[in-house]
Amino acid sequence: MLKLVRKNPITVLQSEELSQFPSILHGFCTRIGGVSGGPYATLNVSPREGDPPEQVRMNWQRLAAAFEIPCEQFFVVNQVHGESFLVVEDATSCHSLEDRQYDAIVTDRPGVAIGIKTADCAPVILFDRRRQAIAAVHAGWRGTALAIAAKAVRVMGERFSSRPEDLLAVIGPSIGACCYEVDEPVFEALARHGSEDRVLKPGLRKGRWMFDLPLANRMQLEREGVPPGQISAAGLCTCCRRDLFFSHRRDGAKTGRHLNFILLLQGK
Ligand SMILES: [Zn+2]
Repeated sequence: MLKLVRKNPITVLQSEELSQFPSILHGFCTRIGGVSGGPYATLNVSPREGDPPEQVRMNWQRLAAAFEIPCEQFFVVNQVHGESFLVVEDATSCHSLEDRQYDAIVTDRPGVAIGIKTADCAPVILFDRRRQAIAAVHAGWRGTALAIAAKAVRVMGERFSSRPEDLLAVIGPSIGACCYEVDEPVFEALARHGSEDRVLKPGLRKGRWMFDLPLANRMQLEREGVPPGQISAAGLCTCCRRDLFFSHRRDGAKTGRHLNFILLLQGK
């Protein structure tokens, strides 16, 4: 279960399940509490869509202050709708890997807030409560077709000896089945995984389907052995909730990105 929490001046969604663990800090940010204006209002963390960089920098500073995490501990990458994983083995400086192309980050190092930027795509966060390892995954339809959430479970197994039964997973806010209309090529790519009858329902228009992105990711995690009771989802649609979220589908290319992150705290 996720709840909206105010951390002045920002508003963030946090999972009650993950919040029970004192060794981690996490958040699925909303658009509330930043300084950006126009289509980027207000807490946009990406300089790539036209928002002035100084505004974006101020938003990062607000985030850092709200969570009491030094800015240089946030770690984000340039996401490209692929399936490449970055394993963080030591803490490096803020935004240093913006030019490197990955769609998932894993680490067992404390002090590294691994982050995924989204505006409709699903952010998936994983926490291994036994091995104290974490993952942050970017899953749009392409990443989901590449089964990136399932791959995250396997990568954590390979790198940290994580067992699926020790993982807690949270699927953050994304576009919902209410708004995510997809066409034939997308249907074909997603249907390769089976269970398309559950995640793809016929749309109002011919040759269109409504895709349940969060459910597709939940099913991938369950298939990898993550217990269903240890997976939670935000249940909020980024496209429906203009008050809370940016949405590429709703607003087009000129919109902001939210930050979704998890961090292993030092000395806990
Ligand atoms: Zn919707």
